[in-house]
Amino acid sequence: MVSRASAVRVGLVFPELLGTYGDRGNAVVLVERCRRRGIDAELVEVAAGAPIPDSLDVYLLGGGEDDSQVMAAAGMRESSAAIERAQHSGAVILAVCAGFQLLGHRYEARGGEQLDGLGLVDMTTAAGPSRLIGEVVVEPDPSLRIPTLSGFENHGGRTRLGPDEHPLGRVLAGGGNGVGGVDGVLRERIIGTYLHGPVLPRNPALADLLLTWVLGRDLEPVDDRLPDELRSLRVAAATATGWRARVRDFKLNRG
Ligand code: GLN
Repeated sequence: MVSRASAVRVGLVFPELLGTYGDRGNAVVLVERCRRRGIDAELVEVAAGAPIPDSLDVYLLGGGEDDSQVMAAAGMRESSAAIERAQHSGAVILAVCAGFQLLGHRYEARGGEQLDGLGLVDMTTAAGPSRLIGEVVVEPDPSLRIPTLSGFENHGGRTRLGPDEHPLGRVLAGGGNGVGGVDGVLRERIIGTYLHGPVLPRNPALADLLLTWVLGRDLEPVDDRLPDELRSLRVAAATATGWRARVRDFKLNRG
């Protein structure tokens, strides 16, 4: 196994603001999946208000309410140059919900407040008429070669991707972006999604994909029977719920 000169630096950005829905678990899982393979890794917390370093290997942005998002957006904009340098150096970005929304040009909150994002992705988000809450199942872009993704969502925002952007995947159950039947965004080493769960403990193949990008090589397998069983159960439950909802709506619409 080629040893890596330095530890894999897994950055958790502004967890006090973008940690409402437990997305810290994404950082814990990445560090743990390195440890299980004897790969040195460290969790680097970037406190709200602190500058975001350009030296991390992975940048994890989690979910948060609208108010927290305002403060997080300000901090991210102040560090936008560092984030862009990191991205151009091959760093990986996984942004969930509020963090995902802030990768775009702007987020229009329910009260009409306009929040400028990083503009790393050509997309805009605006609060919709209701919140999308519940289990989500996403068929990921085939280029990722990972199985169906499971998670849960809780957001009011609806995200519209620009014409040249590609989604993370197609929504099989739940809402996702709430526009066009897709979830998230996939651009180079940026993955955005509405999947909480947290998404990486729920989907170990996605966690390993990010680590493969960081390490530049395939990873030795680890025992994922438990998380795989959880994912299968959640996908089955959500898909069944999805079908039950479709049958109910069909009957209601038929009258
Ligand atoms: N505040 C944003 C929204 O409601 C993001 C919510 C979240 O991060 N779960 O859409």
